[in-house]
Amino acid sequence: MSYAVPAPSIPTLPIRNCDERFPVHRIYCVGRNYVAHAIEMGHDPHREEPFFFQKNPDTLVGNGGDFPYPAKSEDVHHEIELVVALGAGGTDIPVDKALDCVYGYGVGLDMTRRDLQGQMKKTGRPWEIGKAFEHAAPCSEIVPASQIGHPDHGRIRLEVNGELRQDGDLNQLIWKISEMITYLSGLFTLSAGDLIFTGTPAGVGPVQRGDRLVGSIDGVGRLEITVV
Ligand code: MN
Repeated sequence: MSYAVPAPSIPTLPIRNCDERFPVHRIYCVGRNYVAHAIEMGHDPHREEPFFFQKNPDTLVGNGGDFPYPAKSEDVHHEIELVVALGAGGTDIPVDKALDCVYGYGVGLDMTRRDLQGQMKKTGRPWEIGKAFEHAAPCSEIVPASQIGHPDHGRIRLEVNGELRQDGDLNQLIWKISEMITYLSGLFTLSAGDLIFTGTPAGVGPVQRGDRLVGSIDGVGRLEITVV
């Protein structure tokens, strides 16, 4: 096979205790999946269901990497999230079979140009410029479910320069991991290599150049990046 222009490489993430890498296909993200975060963003979580958007796979940044402060924004926010990595997919996956599709888990940051996202919300336009920009998806190594099982609780935290900014627990997820997979598989054909960013707990806020972000999820892992 020869290509008319240089072929893009497949984005990948490392896997804990494994020499092979996890090839990333699509990145799905859920919005407003923790009650306290929905409230801090001005929404009533009891009246509005969580919803989905996508990021581009080539915006991944590995653990220990740099996050260059993006252009055209004065208000870039951190959102620490559990990431689900799929090892199998399909359509219309029953909820009791959904976890069978999970390869493993990671710790991710849904970096957001909040000011641009706000403008798009106000005008009813798509969110890509707020969510899918370069380096917008830092993510840790993937830890296989065969090593840790499927987490349904565990503290999820983000520190910025040593100060605790976000603090929640996976048991606060409004839509559980299996429910997200089932719902998404009704809208899209899920595939091995897909990642799902599962939403952020309360405490989102702005980052500045020079900030050191350290995220962790008990039983899953840790992610560190520097804003440059
Ligand atoms: Mn998010």
